[in-house]
Amino acid sequence: MSAEPTVASERPAPTHEVSNQPPPLQGVNYFSSHRALVEATEREGGGWVLDRARALGERIAGDPVLWGAQANENPPRLRTHDRYGHRIDEVEFHPAWHQLMTLGVREELHALPWRDPRPGAHVARAALYMTAMQAEAGFACPITMTFAAVPSLRAQPELAEHWEPLLTATTYDPRLIPAEEKGSALCGMAMTEKQGGSDVRANTTRARPLNGGGPGGEYELIGHKWFCSAPMCDLFLVLAQADEGLSCFAMPRVLPDGQRNAFHLQRLKDKLGNRSNASSEVEFAGAWAQMVGPPGRGVPTIIEMVAHTRLDCVIGTAAGMRWGVMQALHHTAHRSAFGRVLIEQPLMRNVLADLCLESEATTLLAMRLARSYDAAPGDEAAQAFKRLGTAVSKYWVCKRAPGHAYECLECLGGNGYVEESGLPRLYREAPLASIWEGSGNVMSLDVLRALGRDPASLQVFFDEVELSSGADPRLDRFVTSVRDELSRPDELESRARRVVERMALALQGSLVVRHAPPAVADAFCASRLDGDSGLAYGTLPAGLDFEAIIDRHRLPV
Ligand SMILES: Cc1cc2nc3c(=O)[nH]c(=O)nc-3n(C[C@H](O)[C@H](O)[C@H](O)COP(=O)(O)OP(=O)(O)OC[C@H]3O[C@@H](n4cnc5c(N)ncnc54)[C@H](O)[C@@H]3O)c2cc1C
Repeated sequence: MSAEPTVASERPAPTHEVSNQPPPLQGVNYFSSHRALVEATEREGGGWVLDRARALGERIAGDPVLWGAQANENPPRLRTHDRYGHRIDEVEFHPAWHQLMTLGVREELHALPWRDPRPGAHVARAALYMTAMQAEAGFACPITMTFAAVPSLRAQPELAEHWEPLLTATTYDPRLIPAEEKGSALCGMAMTEKQGGSDVRANTTRARPLNGGGPGGEYELIGHKWFCSAPMCDLFLVLAQADEGLSCFAMPRVLPDGQRNAFHLQRLKDKLGNRSNASSEVEFAGAWAQMVGPPGRGVPTIIEMVAHTRLDCVIGTAAGMRWGVMQALHHTAHRSAFGRVLIEQPLMRNVLADLCLESEATTLLAMRLARSYDAAPGDEAAQAFKRLGTAVSKYWVCKRAPGHAYECLECLGGNGYVEESGLPRLYREAPLASIWEGSGNVMSLDVLRALGRDPASLQVFFDEVELSSGADPRLDRFVTSVRDELSRPDELESRARRVVERMALALQGSLVVRHAPPAVADAFCASRLDGDSGLAYGTLPAGLDFEAIIDRHRLPV
């Protein structure tokens, strides 16, 4: 008689039984389980994507999660030369990276609103993007830049006519051959130089006209870029100094005749996180490019690319927060200490509720912001909200991410500090969205700049915030104080972070009061608006309905 064979994971170790460890987190739909996201997708106009988002949510929870880990454990490698000494400037990636890119492009995360510009397309894309980027944040970079390049390229219609069908194609082909042969392309951006990133007007890269120059004209670029992410892209939007001043250029990696452009990769950055993605230092040794938009108008031309990238910083941060919350809820639901499951311990409930609250407020803000991108064309108020709302949201949401990731990590105790939990990866990634495309101070100052250029946009902002007027006196009081803060002209620049933080909280508060369940709204107003909490997560006042907040975010397994 033989005993039923046990599977390896159920066999006791020779010295002890493994117990009190959570089961692997499997079978969770990354979209459907995120109730705040499902509701916001429908409410903000993307209801038509729900079935597709559910299917993606199920898919993402499978292999893509593994690909994310593999792509980070096997980061890209630079190959500058071949064995004979010829420059090749290629970056080699682990197959898992290519799987992620294939998925992202097939799911139209890089192009949905340009391929299918029906109402709600940006919201629909945001729902898909927030779902997918929970698996891994690194591949968001080329996906986002490709998405964001299209509106800037449209400043030069004949270039857009050529490149847009390639940039919006749904096939991914990593080969370094002319994009026209592949039928698809990815786009990066190269602005930052050694001597200046925020201050791009300090760029020293020179652009010399080859045939008279001007919009759409051919140029030769000589100079460098200190940060150029996703250098395996087929096209880059680049800033360089033409005779008329800083201008925007479209620079292909491979020239129309099949020769490689004079785009030389010097090094890959050894980064804190974001390790699956390559970020490079690059030299332009007379690289061929075409001008996009008017000469001397480089910043206004590339600004739409910058805005759409900032939108994705907000959506991507919401994705990271949701993933962290999932891990924290799962672990604490299955781990006991001192005779009780962690999730039932009063102090842990405070921490978890606070983390859920932040994730929900961020999700609501990201989705509302995405709607402003749908509404902006032809609607002045929506355009003003988009401009101001993007800067306000990018500043605050990204600032909250590292602390949030760290507390999610700590919910797993020592297990959270160990690589295979995935939490260290989330934690290392968390500061990036804040630095990229406008670091914290620069974003705060950008809010002041937007208000200076278009003072009427402040009323548009408050019109949105005050849709919740009268619903909660704590929110009303807070909004009045934000108005007061903004009306004082003294030392506004040095108060910029404080002002923008409070604008973001007012907007989040308004969205939460209108759209989240009463327990969530009550906790948000008490802790974020009424000052009834400490500086760390998990300091919500007692007496709030922690259970209801956690239940809303709880996983079905
Ligand atoms: C992983 C990674 C990938 C990147 N990929 C790209 C890419 O693909 N393409 C690209 O072009 N760039 C890229 N960047 C560069 C990034 O956009 C810049 O690092 C960022 O814009 C900041 O510029 P900087 O590093 O030159 O810092 P600086 O401009 O020197 O700023 C340093 C600090 O000073 C603050 N500061 C600046 N001006 C002011 C002011 N007036 N008042 C108060 N404070 C101020 C900033 O907020 C920042 O905190 C990447 C960066 C990273 C980390």
